[in-house]
Amino acid sequence: MFNMVVFGPPGCGKGTQAARIVENHGFLHVSTGDILRRQIASGNAMGELLEKFTSRGLLVPDQIILKEIWRFALRHQYEKGIIFDGFPRNLYQAQMLDRIFYKKEMRINLVVSIDVDEDELIRRVLERGKTSGRTDDNAEVMHNRLLVYVGQTRPVIDYYRRKKRLVEISGNRPVDEVAASIDLAIVHKMQA
Ligand code: ADP
Repeated sequence: MFNMVVFGPPGCGKGTQAARIVENHGFLHVSTGDILRRQIASGNAMGELLEKFTSRGLLVPDQIILKEIWRFALRHQYEKGIIFDGFPRNLYQAQMLDRIFYKKEMRINLVVSIDVDEDELIRRVLERGKTSGRTDDNAEVMHNRLLVYVGQTRPVIDYYRRKKRLVEISGNRPVDEVAASIDLAIVHKMQA
């Protein structure tokens, strides 16, 4: 099994690139943001609670996310591979992912970090906001999401760098070029 994380700030293109990897390699894609948005759309009490966090650009509590990830990983442990998108988003989540995977003799083989200039991130998210219907794709909430990214999420890069699983690529390029770089990293890691 080959498991990977597509990592980066809001608007860096994680979802777009994950879809490309699915096409090329047949891995499963799990986006914690999509899971949360589905729960919110269902309109139950849990959804209402989650919306209080996502609409402000804050991380939802770790235990809620970890339960979803654990459930997903167990259900799909015999697949070819999983692409995690939007997770892990802080050091605790990264450590817990390694711990729960270890128990199942699974591991994260590769973390691809996509770096994009802040001006470009804001431009993309505001553009997406015109059609996405997402309550967090506006200037004010994006500002918070970037603060959360820098304060809580970006430190995860060092965690994976130390574990020698990190590949950093520039996302300030056309989608196809970014996809080609990611593909190279995957093939390289698979052969290692
Ligand atoms: P983006 O990467 O563009 O910010 P996502 O769809 O990945 O968008 O996430 C949207 C929101 O969902 C986040 O701002 C956060 O509130 C919540 N969220 C997603 N993944 C996680 C996670 N792993 N831990 C905590 N909250 C999360």
